[in-house]
Amino acid sequence: MSASLIALPDAAGLARASALLREGSLVGLPTETVYGLAANALDPAAVAKIFEAKGRPFFDPLIVHLPGLAEAEALVTGEWPAQARKLAELFWPGPLTLILPKHPSIPDLVTSGLPYVALRAPSHPVAQAVLKAAGLPLAAPSANRFGRISPTTAEAVAEELGGAAALALILDGGPCPIGLESTILAFPEGESRPLLLRAGGLSVEEIEHAVGPLAHNTRLGKEAPPAGAAAPGQLPSHYAPRTPLRRIGHPSEVAPGDRNATALLAFGPLDAGDAASFQAVENLSPSASLPEAAARLFTLLRTLDHAAAREIVALPVPETGLGLAINDRLIRAAHQ
Ligand code: AMP
Ligand code: MG
Repeated sequence: MSASLIALPDAAGLARASALLREGSLVGLPTETVYGLAANALDPAAVAKIFEAKGRPFFDPLIVHLPGLAEAEALVTGEWPAQARKLAELFWPGPLTLILPKHPSIPDLVTSGLPYVALRAPSHPVAQAVLKAAGLPLAAPSANRFGRISPTTAEAVAEELGGAAALALILDGGPCPIGLESTILAFPEGESRPLLLRAGGLSVEEIEHAVGPLAHNTRLGKEAPPAGAAAPGQLPSHYAPRTPLRRIGHPSEVAPGDRNATALLAFGPLDAGDAASFQAVENLSPSASLPEAAARLFTLLRTLDHAAAREIVALPVPETGLGLAINDRLIRAAHQ
């Protein structure tokens, strides 16, 4: 891995990123959710490099990133569902992805052949600057090897994909402020409620406050989606550390004799006795703040993975607000 792979997002870095994207190379860039592996979404050859670098299967479609609603109009066919437009107006730029009928200019490779495209306007200033400088819609999944922990720092991108020939540059914007992927909503015909395809960085409560109740994919994070479900790529095993991960209710469930080979991922206040004698302990948020836990989740999973324990055990996180998305990631990380 060469040191110059990572650059600051100053004027020179942004100019390099924009030139590389225009010539069909890949660029790692920070968003408010996680770091993305970006390519020109209108160039199938560039998009193919994303799948190759990540080892991502072609049936898993990519989210297309734009500066905002104005640029998104050109990539959608027909009228927007009223709820989709309202949500874009309220929450873009931000951690919300909308599934809408695709414009023919979007290559089938981006959408895995589906007639719908996933669109998002990221709020991170570096992502916005790159989108505007390149003047292109950018396909950008998380910048990790397929199935692995999403990166929330430039160093984590280099750790995951530094060896990929097509990755020409990683812009270092520091740690991602939200730390969880975007919330994904679809608008199925004949269904009055938007359908939650993935819990993420914008809470269900905030969305429901704006447009009323969502329909839930009840299998979300619990098991494989049924065949043909409108949530391709949401696989039961994902976000996985190399060390096996198990969700437990309380540290006392780990026998004292096993603790020196076990790494504990805690949430909330922890008694000294509860944390004692584990090989490694990290706390998502000692004060039980869900936004703090979200922002630290993937970094701490990486830290505990490096501890080379026999097992990582994760304590429960409340199922409200960002907790829904945190638990979804932990359930998938635990799936063998
Ligand atoms: P990410 O891996 O964070 O880039 O998220 C991509 C995910 O968005 C995919 O795994 C799908 O679940 C979802 N997605 C992307 N495009 C579509 C689409 N056209 N229709 C339905 N879901 C999509
Ligand atoms: Mg991903």
